[in-house]
Amino acid sequence: MAGRPAADALPVVILLGPPGAGKGTQARMLQEDYGLVQLSTGDLLRGAVAKGTPAGRAAEAVMQAGGLVPDAIVLDVLRERMAEPDAARGIVLDGFPRTEAQAEALDALVAARGQRITAAVSLEVEDAAMVERIAGRYSCAQCGEGYHDRFKQPKEAGGCDKCGGHEFKRRPDDTAETVAARLAAYRAETAPLIAYYAARGLLARVDAMGAIAEIRAALARALSKAGA
Ligand code: ADP
Ligand code: ZN
Repeated sequence: MAGRPAADALPVVILLGPPGAGKGTQARMLQEDYGLVQLSTGDLLRGAVAKGTPAGRAAEAVMQAGGLVPDAIVLDVLRERMAEPDAARGIVLDGFPRTEAQAEALDALVAARGQRITAAVSLEVEDAAMVERIAGRYSCAQCGEGYHDRFKQPKEAGGCDKCGGHEFKRRPDDTAETVAARLAAYRAETAPLIAYYAARGLLARVDAMGAIAEIRAALARALSKAGA
């Protein structure tokens, strides 16, 4: 039968890793390389904050302090996004799940879509690299392309490589103080998910200390091994 692939053939890829590991960057690449829809709970929450929705108002202070937004709020914004028509495809989750309760909720959400988790990829980085990566990063205000003061500047100063836009922005939580809190939340709540997915045979580890293109290639190898 021609047409859409069966739901259970659509990849569901999870990117795990501490803040600054490059989840967002690699999720965008998977979007380009595999046509997956990038679902970033961080982006969704920042959107809710910008719009001033009830979820956004509840999340703002926690995000600014580097803590985790309550599961119920995160799940609400994710469910809403997953219900949009363009999300009825393969997906890459970036920044979700972050707690064991979220991982269990995701198992149920994925099953309800007739899908299965293809792989949970742990992007492995050294702690010392985190602060430098995060403190230097910014993105295009128009298309979201990510840049870094040291590691990835636009080819022409002041203009976005992707869309030519001239406005760039930095996240308000990308400060040295907030990064420490975000790393602590990662260690306490999210790092245990590595064992959660390993126990289910879904974990792939990818060295994320190299160049963006190398990590992209390593991720592609991990996904082809997982059958994506
Ligand atoms: P990073 O991974 O670089 O820390 P994100 O953009 O994924 O950044 O998340 C930014 C902030 O949004 C987090 O510090 C947290 O406050 C909130 N957040 C994002 N996703 C979740 C989630 N799944 N559960 C709880 N809080 C979240
Ligand atoms: Zn741009």
